[in-house]
Amino acid sequence: MENNIKVPFVNLGLQFEEYKEEILDKFRELSSSGQYVMGEELTNFEQNIAKYCGVNHALGVGNGTDAIVIALKCMGIGPGDEVITTPNTFIGTVGAIKMVGAQARLVDVGDDYNMSPDKLEEVITDKTKALIPVHLTGMPANMDAINSIARKYNLFVVEDSAQAIGATYNNKKVGSLADVGCFSLHPLKNLHVHGDGGLITTNNSELYEKMKVYRNHGLIDRDTCSFWGINSRLDEIQAAIANIKLKSLDRITERFREIALRYDEGLKDLDIARPVRYLERLGVYHNYVLRVPRRSDLMNFLETRGVQTKIHYPKLIHVQPAARELGYKLGDFQESERQAQEILSLPIYPELKNEQVDYVIQCVRDFFTK
Ligand SMILES: *Cc1c(COP(=O)(O)O)cnc(C)c1O
Repeated sequence: MENNIKVPFVNLGLQFEEYKEEILDKFRELSSSGQYVMGEELTNFEQNIAKYCGVNHALGVGNGTDAIVIALKCMGIGPGDEVITTPNTFIGTVGAIKMVGAQARLVDVGDDYNMSPDKLEEVITDKTKALIPVHLTGMPANMDAINSIARKYNLFVVEDSAQAIGATYNNKKVGSLADVGCFSLHPLKNLHVHGDGGLITTNNSELYEKMKVYRNHGLIDRDTCSFWGINSRLDEIQAAIANIKLKSLDRITERFREIALRYDEGLKDLDIARPVRYLERLGVYHNYVLRVPRRSDLMNFLETRGVQTKIHYPKLIHVQPAARELGYKLGDFQESERQAQEILSLPIYPELKNEQVDYVIQCVRDFFTK
């Protein structure tokens, strides 16, 4: 079965080949230097990525979930407070809210798979302290509408940008559109390291100073702890890999967009819903998500043709066993629930060849036309 795979869903080993020499050289250099955490590579990465996102400050942290924990914690959010996000996000978004002791509230999504501003105000209570719109699939949420609701109710906004590095809204990069941007550098994200990693962006200097200390035990210098913190740092070797890959992020993003366009063109006359495009938003197609009838038949058909596909995500937050305490039931988020039955992610990554993309297109066409 293994060698029947013509288009794997991911192929991280292939990407490593491209950076192999540079990464291995750096690994030798850093290993000899003995500076393994909180060194120059991290500082450089933080400066480079702040510039890339168009913000004043950036912080490397342990992973994308910690990034959200650190942001919420330093905003003073905790027990008794509510934070609103969406039911179709990755578990980590909600896990982070629970981790700081706050209660997670959910709001349904729109056609963009993102937080629906139309339904948001009904969920806001006097306990609500922050909103976490998720730029799911790499497409920015409707930030103008979300930010204006946040202003009206005096709420913090944290962009969960884990899937969306490089995406823009009115030509501004995600991570620069609200109070704080949280990113993941997990191996499956568009910009990734060789393990776990995360990143926080902000223009708020006061919050930045606090988050910077919080991620490193609350230490303001080697021997002085000004408040209790956690250990969530981006290692030097991971920061070095992030620096190396950041240099080609624009090219990589371009390739994601090219593949998305190729899928769009190749599938446009079929009766299936492709990702919606918006004038003011440019996505990075972390996932290329179709909405299709007879999804499991299509998935099986593609599998037999050697094309791997996935569902992001088949099981929504509010139906997870862990979420029982949130008090929701099936039927509470009808748009998310409908989408969860129909969505299918096709393979998309920069190393994918055009011939492979065309092969996927042909297989999908065969399914619907034969
Ligand atoms: C990946 C992801 C996270 C969590 O990032 P980790 O680095 O895995 O902790 C959070 N939110 C979304 C939307 C993600 O895709």
